[in-house]
Amino acid sequence: MNIFKHADDLSGFLKERQKQGFSIGFVPTMGALHRGHISLIKESISKNQITVCSIFVNPLQFNDTRDYEKYPITTEADILMLEESGCQVLFLPGINDIYPNKNIHQKPAPIGQLENVLEGAFRPGHFAGVYTVVYRLLKIVMPSNLYLGQKDYQQYLIIKNMAERKFKNVCVIDYPIIREESGLALSSRNRRLNKTEIKTASELYKSLKYIKQHISPGNWHSLKREQIKKLTEKGFKVEYLELADKYNLSISPIFKNKKKGVLIIAAWIGGVRLIDNIFL
Ligand code: AMP
Repeated sequence: MNIFKHADDLSGFLKERQKQGFSIGFVPTMGALHRGHISLIKESISKNQITVCSIFVNPLQFNDTRDYEKYPITTEADILMLEESGCQVLFLPGINDIYPNKNIHQKPAPIGQLENVLEGAFRPGHFAGVYTVVYRLLKIVMPSNLYLGQKDYQQYLIIKNMAERKFKNVCVIDYPIIREESGLALSSRNRRLNKTEIKTASELYKSLKYIKQHISPGNWHSLKREQIKKLTEKGFKVEYLELADKYNLSISPIFKNKKKGVLIIAAWIGGVRLIDNIFL
């Protein structure tokens, strides 16, 4: 695997390959890699001649500095996993390569209403930070295909929208959530949970599945109340549990149509904030 630490070196390498007609798949990550990331890498490898994975913990997207400071860094293990997966290129930039001249100030990003709902409402500035870093990474990598996980569903919609407007040659592909056998969605932050908390954390997905199985016109609000109560009793602090339109994430006050719905949740357990979602 080729490892690049500087944007110019990576761009030069990729431009040569693009001239030869190679298609480039790109998987941006913040590292502490797990099977969820590797599923995206493998999907990219199966569809592109070159797959680039980036690992960069982006300070701009952390609205909570403690969360940034505690973010797990496992670069050596990540490199081994990437090599084993068959990934051809790793981009491991320093802060200066992403934000030259220490220009890490957040610029307002033209995101629209998706910026302020759900995750956006609870993590002010988060999506502006995500938008800025992905914009910069896409300028450097200029991939043919960009792979994003449905785990961060709102992020996927925002980046897809950005690519449609600003990177018309980049095709954005979403990929299903990879879970533990218990149902817990894999996440780098799960490393911060102890054994008991990991077990409890799987209740989040159980609640989503229960609602999906039982939802019908007229019972959404009572189901929501009941599941928030259940999760609270198990030790969660639920920030939101909403039913939304899966195309634009507008929140649905009533349940009408299974085809368009996504259930989406954020909750704290053991000092760690988890998110999850399920299509109806
Ligand atoms: P992160 O390193 O958390 O920024 O995630 C990098 C990419 O991996 C994003 O597109 C995530 O949505 C995706 N991802 C993270 N966890 C999972 C998972 N459990 N299943 C599938 N994709 C995931």
